[in-house]
Amino acid sequence: MHETVAPDHQDIRQGVRRLCARFEGSYWQALDRERAYPTQFVQALTEEGYLAILIPEAYGGAGLPLSAAAAVLEEIHRSGGNGAACHAQMYTMGTLLRHGSEDQKRLWLPQIASGALRLQAFGVTEPGSGTDTSRITTFARRDGDRYVVNGQKIWISRAEHSDQLLLLCRTAPREASARPTDGMSVLLVDLREAVGHGLTIRPIRTMLNHATTELFFDDLEVPAANLIGEEGRGFSYILDGMNAERILIASECLGDGRFFVDRSSAYAAERQVFGRPIGQNQGVQFPIARAHVQIEAAALMVARASSLFDDGQACGTEANMAKLLASEASWAAADVCLQTHGGFGFAEEYDIERKFREARLYLTAPISTNLILSHVAVHVLGLPKSF
Ligand SMILES: Cc1cc2nc3c(=O)[nH]c(=O)nc-3n(C[C@H](O)[C@H](O)[C@H](O)COP(=O)(O)OP(=O)(O)OC[C@H]3O[C@@H](n4cnc5c(N)ncnc54)[C@H](O)[C@@H]3O)c2cc1C
Repeated sequence: MHETVAPDHQDIRQGVRRLCARFEGSYWQALDRERAYPTQFVQALTEEGYLAILIPEAYGGAGLPLSAAAAVLEEIHRSGGNGAACHAQMYTMGTLLRHGSEDQKRLWLPQIASGALRLQAFGVTEPGSGTDTSRITTFARRDGDRYVVNGQKIWISRAEHSDQLLLLCRTAPREASARPTDGMSVLLVDLREAVGHGLTIRPIRTMLNHATTELFFDDLEVPAANLIGEEGRGFSYILDGMNAERILIASECLGDGRFFVDRSSAYAAERQVFGRPIGQNQGVQFPIARAHVQIEAAALMVARASSLFDDGQACGTEANMAKLLASEASWAAADVCLQTHGGFGFAEEYDIERKFREARLYLTAPISTNLILSHVAVHVLGLPKSF
């Protein structure tokens, strides 16, 4: 029987807290204002090895379980920071690790582990397909020892801060494939060579500082040696990586939720109105207590999904449920925190409004709440599929 509670990794948590203490709210506020990338923060995490935590020791990483990576990201978010700038450096390499050839792994994984190579962009979403990945149309045509790629991607985060891109594209048309998800392949694109030679990256300004972009492929040539796994099986490779991503994002949500509860409690205990702390009023303290309860409940599901993952067991449903519960709990806590702070919650220097904007993303990405509910309705409860 598997453990239901993932290990707590106290040493790692303390190390991350110490690192994050060097990057105060003013650091994140300035970046947010400029929509700039947290280069120094990412460098510090890289130097201390946190981004290589999931890479096996044989390839230069720490070889630790997913629960350790989850602890790192939760602590970053609890400190008021944002791991979204670099979380994908931790898990995007999983597709290469699981499905790449030994030659590809020996070539790239040690460089990713040292931080010399950034593989933290992955391109799945397209403007025309939305959540229905079977409808992507970006196409890689085989031409001798290379592929020629044409098409468009949207919401591809960190592409301007990554050396490589894990690209999901079609190598056979949907209509010519036995199943709608057949005929897709994964290519590793070297962004350093591609930009200006068939790839254009256009940043998208959003309500949060997320370095997300649009990609335009116009006869981009990619060496055939950069195909990961077998041609035509790419969708299943990407799907394999999604559980890890959802569990890690859920951990960030827990960190956000705990940040909001910590800040709300501290402010409610200190702020005096009508001659007493606002937190003495049950109308103020009960919402904070409820937010705490909801986060603790979500944390149990995150721990369960994480321990199933680390035991090598199926965990698709648990990973989805963990992400849904944690994102909703953190969003509820964000709202409570803003309300508790009154007008001051809207002031940049308190970090609440920034974290409020950041926390909202996870109800939509990397998968929106409705699609998780649909998974549970159909695959757990046996209800008819709606699409
Ligand atoms: C800041 C940001 C960063 C991102 N980073 C990346 C990235 O790095 N790489 C990448 O590939 N993608 C990325 N994404 C894309 C993200 O994964 C998608 O935005 C998300 O999966 C939702 O897809 P969509 O935007 O196409 O929405 P749509 O699929 O157009 O859906 C719109 C709304 O309709 C609902 N909906 C759709 N179909 C149904 C249905 N059948 N039943 C009920 N409800 C339905 C959805 O739940 C959603 O609320 C990012 C997005 C954002 C906003």
